[in-house]
Amino acid sequence: MSRLNEYLSNQPGVGGVSQRVGPYIDCSDLFKIYKRADLEVVALRGLDLAVESGELIAVIGASGSGKSTLLNILAGLDRPSAGRVMVGNRDLLDVSDDDLVMYRRSEVGFVWQATARNLVPYLSVADNIELPMALTGQLAKERRAWADELQESLGISDKGKRFPYQLSGGEQQRAAIAVGLANKPPLLLADEPTGELDTENADSIFKMIGGLNRSYGVTVVMVTHYTGVSQYVDRVVHIRDGRIGSETFSRPDYRRDGDIVEDEYVVVDKSGRLQLPSELADQFRSGGLAKIGMEDGQIKIDTPRINPRQTRGRS
Ligand code: ADP
Ligand code: MG
Repeated sequence: MSRLNEYLSNQPGVGGVSQRVGPYIDCSDLFKIYKRADLEVVALRGLDLAVESGELIAVIGASGSGKSTLLNILAGLDRPSAGRVMVGNRDLLDVSDDDLVMYRRSEVGFVWQATARNLVPYLSVADNIELPMALTGQLAKERRAWADELQESLGISDKGKRFPYQLSGGEQQRAAIAVGLANKPPLLLADEPTGELDTENADSIFKMIGGLNRSYGVTVVMVTHYTGVSQYVDRVVHIRDGRIGSETFSRPDYRRDGDIVEDEYVVVDKSGRLQLPSELADQFRSGGLAKIGMEDGQIKIDTPRINPRQTRGRS
């Protein structure tokens, strides 16, 4: 059995016996409202996002746009307020507490930005990687073999006996990714995994995540501020005010020696709603009216020269 098949055979609902139809992650009209005292914060407002099994995507957006909220919901660390969120066969809006614990333990790996949060400080790297496997009752021999393979894939084979404080930031995040994949989860989530690293280390982490995505088929959703990320992922989704406004795909441009070209598309949801690109949205800072039509296959947006709301009813 190939490495990919072996990894996938451990994944419930992915290529295994129970076949699913549709995307692996399916969020539609997702809302998250935080209530603090008498104040309500709407962190996600009708977010739509579909991610296919085996996809590698990056989520970018300004601070406070809802990126961590989305990831925490997908990780089963937080519950959505309304809408729909399916991961594999699981409905995360309507899941029991026990089932959510199982989900977090074996179906999703999570990497935080803060290196110190990812690893148990008094355990060696190898023991950190084996810990989640021990919690799900795997045999010592199997634990050791998979921990070795993960360390090798992440270029930290010689660091197994070290403690987290004896590693560089980049090495700690690689170890954290190994811990995240310990139970062979179908889904790996990472919230700004390279936020505390320099460009060189960030590049190598993204390359490794790409490699793991290809060799094991693990679906990856990661939040990042890293500007060069599009070359490492299948697509970049842009989150703004709690919704996915647009998506960027990059492709090699063969006319220009394979330079990377990025195409950004506005997302139109199932109800026909869309978010104007930020440069256009700036013209509507206090709202307003627009006339939308098609011209030569292109969407045209016109703003009225006189405000029809103010002239209505006049003779
Ligand atoms: P990002 O990760 O994109 O910076 P977050 O998802 O952390 O954004 O936050 C989105 C919005 O929700 C922000 O306005 C933030 O202040 C608010 N928020 C996040 N977590 C909580 C919480 N636990 N309680 C109250 N408000 C929260
Ligand atoms: Mg965040």
